[in-house]
Amino acid sequence: MVKLVAIILGRAKLTGVNGRGGTMAYDADVIIVGAGLAGLVAAAELADAGKKIIVLDQEPEQSLGGQAFWSLGGIFLVDSPEQRRMGIRDSHGLALEDWLGTAAFDREEDFWPRRWAEAYVAFAAGEKRSWLYERGIRFFPVVGWAERGGGNATGHGNSVPRFHITWGTGPGILAPFVARVRDAERRGLLTFRFRHRVNELTRSGVAVDGVRGDILALSNVQRGQKSARDVVGAFELKAQAVIVSSGGIGGSHELVRKNWPARLGAPPKRMITGVPDHVDGRMLAITESAGGTIINRDRMWHYVEGVKNWNPIWTDHAIRILPGPSSLWLDARGRRLPVPLYPGFDTLATLKYIMDTGYDYSWFILNQKIIKKEFALSGSEQNPDFTSGRWTQVLRRAVTGVPGPVKAFMEKGEDFIVERDLATLVKRMNALAGSAPLLDVESVAREITARDRQLDNAFGKDAQIAAIRGARHYLGDRLIRTVRPHRLLEPAAGPLIAVRLNILTRKTLGGLQTDLDSRVIGADGRPVPGLYAAGEVAGFGGGGVHGYAALEGTFLGGCIFSGRAAGRAAAANVA
Ligand SMILES: Cc1cc2nc3c(=O)[nH]c(=O)nc-3n(C[C@H](O)[C@H](O)[C@H](O)COP(=O)(O)OP(=O)(O)OC[C@H]3O[C@@H](n4cnc5c(N)ncnc54)[C@H](O)[C@@H]3O)c2cc1C
Repeated sequence: MVKLVAIILGRAKLTGVNGRGGTMAYDADVIIVGAGLAGLVAAAELADAGKKIIVLDQEPEQSLGGQAFWSLGGIFLVDSPEQRRMGIRDSHGLALEDWLGTAAFDREEDFWPRRWAEAYVAFAAGEKRSWLYERGIRFFPVVGWAERGGGNATGHGNSVPRFHITWGTGPGILAPFVARVRDAERRGLLTFRFRHRVNELTRSGVAVDGVRGDILALSNVQRGQKSARDVVGAFELKAQAVIVSSGGIGGSHELVRKNWPARLGAPPKRMITGVPDHVDGRMLAITESAGGTIINRDRMWHYVEGVKNWNPIWTDHAIRILPGPSSLWLDARGRRLPVPLYPGFDTLATLKYIMDTGYDYSWFILNQKIIKKEFALSGSEQNPDFTSGRWTQVLRRAVTGVPGPVKAFMEKGEDFIVERDLATLVKRMNALAGSAPLLDVESVAREITARDRQLDNAFGKDAQIAAIRGARHYLGDRLIRTVRPHRLLEPAAGPLIAVRLNILTRKTLGGLQTDLDSRVIGADGRPVPGLYAAGEVAGFGGGGVHGYAALEGTFLGGCIFSGRAAGRAAAANVA
């Protein structure tokens, strides 16, 4: 009975042409499943076109915006004014070469992902910044250099810094789109239905014409916290088109392990989680059941510098360290990672190396001087100064020593060890690892002193030292990211710090295959009528715009680009 009432109350009335050419009563022109960044961007475009929209989300209203709210707001831009002011010479051609060298597309099903990659790099080098700027989005003037690669010019990595931090971080990226959809809501064009979990896409013939699912009990958890799944009713809604924008699989360790590629070694036994619990991946199989094709399931982007949050919001909450290049990176047995696996150079090659060691963690060894300048933590809540969007707060970072959130981890984070002498540091590292001691103080000391000795000359054979010196040629690194090369054991630079680095789940690089209009492709290679997908569920466009690996700061932009395409195409195709 409760279910029946909920179904009846859920109906408004619009009419339109259904998948079989007949007329049908609809609840909206377009239904959007998922109120994250991709869904909100699509909704804003549809509202601009005067369409009636229902946006469904399984989470409560306070979690509006999904993962993007928690993000650092890093945005990949090419040849931006911020880059030019920092003396960086970037171009569409260089960025495309970097993207294709990183993506390494090599599959037949990479047809649409490659087309998306070309379109996305052109967007990043073209209208992306001005389009965002017109919507009020601003960027921090010092551009970051993520995924430096460290190999050949045609291989993986960013040849130049391209990571633009949004003023206001993730909330700053969301703000203009939230404002637009809230305005549409006030104008009666858009309705939100929170706590509505979609379990099925309904069809009329082959065309998708609606959704069915559960109404979940109201929840007053804080934003980002795990919400209950108690079912209090059911709903069914009809529309001329459905846009799926439900995010990836990073919150489901089961799905991550199931799809884990052999090329990255065995799946980690222990992982911590870099995304909220709602990133459960359920909609992928649901959309596949409605005729959508999933490609590149085995492509994913998980980080190797995860630390357990001492103040968790979601289950097993992991924070990623965004490291500068100077920390010494050791595997579980104390061996230095091979060239060019330095902090911030090549995420997936490092992940593979670590998994091949047979352990699912590694270590940074550094000192106070390095942590002060080189440790940034990913996440809006870990960067209150940037998130506030106030210059006074950001400038305080330059004068206050170790940033507050990093200091809190040094004091309270279970993965951090701070000691004055190396022997005690190593003893505590062994104790933290728990098993039979794997680290031997003499070997660790040998690695460090050999590295330190390389600093006696302005030249040498240690490629990491050369990379640090190279990084400091870039003004942005010299100012805020890379310390002057110095001995790790220099007493004045102490105390010493060890950080246990865990594998952290984050992004899904594969997903629903879509064409450049974000139409989901079916088994016959043609778009499934009425079905669109955008954001992480669509591999940020095409079913995997990144190919095998990412250049960073490319995910939020991928949600915006694919969400915009989905909204525009759906608006053009509904009556
Ligand atoms: C801490 C953190 C830092 C990050 N930093 C950056 C960065 O600096 N730069 C960058 O480019 N990217 C970054 N990212 C990645 C980026 O934020 C995400 O990839 C992006 O926000 C995903 O957006 P989305 O709209 O595709 O999905 P989501 O944000 O996951 O939203 C999907 C929504 O769909 C809902 N949903 C799912 N299934 C259902 C269902 N069955 N029924 C109803 N609703 C459903 C969910 O509840 C959710 O609200 C970061 C991510 C995190 C977590």
